[in-house]
Amino acid sequence: MSKKIVVCGGGGFIGGHLVNDLLEQGHQIRSVDRKLFSDWYQKFDDVENIVLNLECKDACVQALEGVDEVYNLAADMGGMGFIENNKALCMLSVLINTHLCMAAKDAGIKKFFYASSACVYSAVKQTEAENPGLKEEDAYPALAEDGYGWEKLFSERMCRHFMEDYNLQTRVARYHNVYGPNGTYDGGREKAPAAICRKVIEAKLSGKHEIEIWGDGSQTRSFMYIDDCVKGTQTIMHSDIIEPINLGSSEMVTINKLVDLAEEIGDVKLKRNYNLDAPKGVRGRSSDNTLIQKYLNWEPDIKLRDGLEKTYRWIFDQISNK
Ligand code: NAD
Repeated sequence: MSKKIVVCGGGGFIGGHLVNDLLEQGHQIRSVDRKLFSDWYQKFDDVENIVLNLECKDACVQALEGVDEVYNLAADMGGMGFIENNKALCMLSVLINTHLCMAAKDAGIKKFFYASSACVYSAVKQTEAENPGLKEEDAYPALAEDGYGWEKLFSERMCRHFMEDYNLQTRVARYHNVYGPNGTYDGGREKAPAAICRKVIEAKLSGKHEIEIWGDGSQTRSFMYIDDCVKGTQTIMHSDIIEPINLGSSEMVTINKLVDLAEEIGDVKLKRNYNLDAPKGVRGRSSDNTLIQKYLNWEPDIKLRDGLEKTYRWIFDQISNK
């Protein structure tokens, strides 16, 4: 049955892909973002596209008018280089989720999704490269990523209390590193997979066969391809899972391995220069998928090599067509 759905942050990376998928299912979509429309990653004619700053309560009321479901993907975010240097800006995203929750309660919204992050997890659990995978319970006692992670943790709780006190049906996924085409790959907000692809492509095209890697390259992460993210987001939205749940890949790799894969795709070998002073985040992070497997009998399973190839090709086209 066709529903009226608003995607907040629809001009961004994940929001754009979600809008596309919901549209294909025949839903009526409103997409809201603060960015100039010309800067949206994906634009669709048959969507109601609105430019609004969702930090303001009035804008949230306008964004939610007449809709059944809300996906909140709007936040000031980026990779480590951005969040380590913009903590206040990241924390101000609290205004978006708070005002959206208030507007959703007043509008009688049926379902409300909030995009949280693996950055809510306690630093104490992420000191070793051989991370066994973060379980949902590892968020407490809290020692989240400064700025960005604390905002996510607070907003998760806002969702929980709006459900407990006002019966707003909130669903919360903790995304672990999402990557794919149609997202940020330069400018300072890009995350590791896009940044590494871009650097490999630039080295290949320029003939200067060197790459700068942040940290010593043996820090670990897991990366979820965008198609798994879009599928998991909607499945969690329509599930009975009322606690925050991991949505991430459990295929943990070192950053060196990520570079190996990008080099393999680009058919090039580069001299690696390790910048130990650059922002590098926690030492080891991956997703423990026991809970999502239990609830959904599914977990993100697109192989990093496959997703990275698509991402690399898209970034290559962007750079070549500049
Ligand atoms: P993105 O930056 O591409 O998209 C976020 C969008 O929100 C942007 O287009 C931005 O303009 C918009 N926005 C910011 N402030 C706004 C405001 N005040 N009003 C309206 N729009 C506003 O990022 P993304 O990767 O698509 O992330 C989507 C969500 O998922 C975010 O909440 C992010 O924190 C979360 N998340 C993403 C990842 C990841 O790896 N990409 C990981 C964990 C969590």
